[in-house]
Amino acid sequence: MQEPIILPVGPIAANCYIVPGEGGGCAVVDPGGEAARIRRLLEEQGLTPKIILLTHGHFDHTGAVKELQEWYSCPLAVGAEDEELLENPPLSLGQGDRFCMKADRLLREGDTVECAGLSFTVLETPGHTRGGVCYLCSGVLYSGDTLFRGDCGRTDLYGGDWDTLRRSLRRLAELPDETRVYPGHGPSSDMGTEKRTNPTLSDPAV
Ligand SMILES: [Zn+2]
Repeated sequence: MQEPIILPVGPIAANCYIVPGEGGGCAVVDPGGEAARIRRLLEEQGLTPKIILLTHGHFDHTGAVKELQEWYSCPLAVGAEDEELLENPPLSLGQGDRFCMKADRLLREGDTVECAGLSFTVLETPGHTRGGVCYLCSGVLYSGDTLFRGDCGRTDLYGGDWDTLRRSLRRLAELPDETRVYPGHGPSSDMGTEKRTNPTLSDPAV
C-alpha cells in the first residue's frame, strides 16, 4: 500500500489526505482549505483527483472542495446525514458561498467508493456530526473528527451527541490493532495504540 500524503491545511490545520491510486489518479480526503497549495502538491506528484471524500461537512474540512471541483471536475462524496451541512453553510460554521456545495454521492454504512484502483469502505460514525463517516482503505482508517490520537472529536456543535459518538468509538475499537489511523487533525496512529492509550476508547467509564 502506498502511504497517503498528509497536508495540514486551513486556519485550524485540518489534515487533507491525498491517496495515490493507479494510473496517476488519486482520492482527496477532506480538502479543508488552501486549494492552491493542494493543487501544487498534486502537480508535483503528477496526480489527478478522481474523487473527493469528506469525513464530515464542517467548514475546516471542505474549504477547498469548490476550487478542486472546478479544476478537476471530480465528484464529491459525503455521509448522507451531512448533506444538510453542505447545503446550509451556517450549520457547518462556514461563511460564504464557497462553503455551499452539492454532493454527488451520499454515502451509507457499508458503501464502497472505488476510484483509480482504490476501494474505500464507508463506516457510519455519527456523534461529532450526524453524518460523520470513516473510510477504510487497505488497512488504513481515515477517521475524520471521530477519532484523534489520544482523543476524540467534540460533540457540542450542531448535530453532535456524546452517547452517539461513544457508540461510534466503541465500534472503531473493534478494528484490528494494525489498522493505521489518519485523523482529521493531529498526528497519525494505529488502533492498537489507541485501544491501549486513548481514554475515549479504552475507558468504559468515559
Ligand atoms: Zn469537525
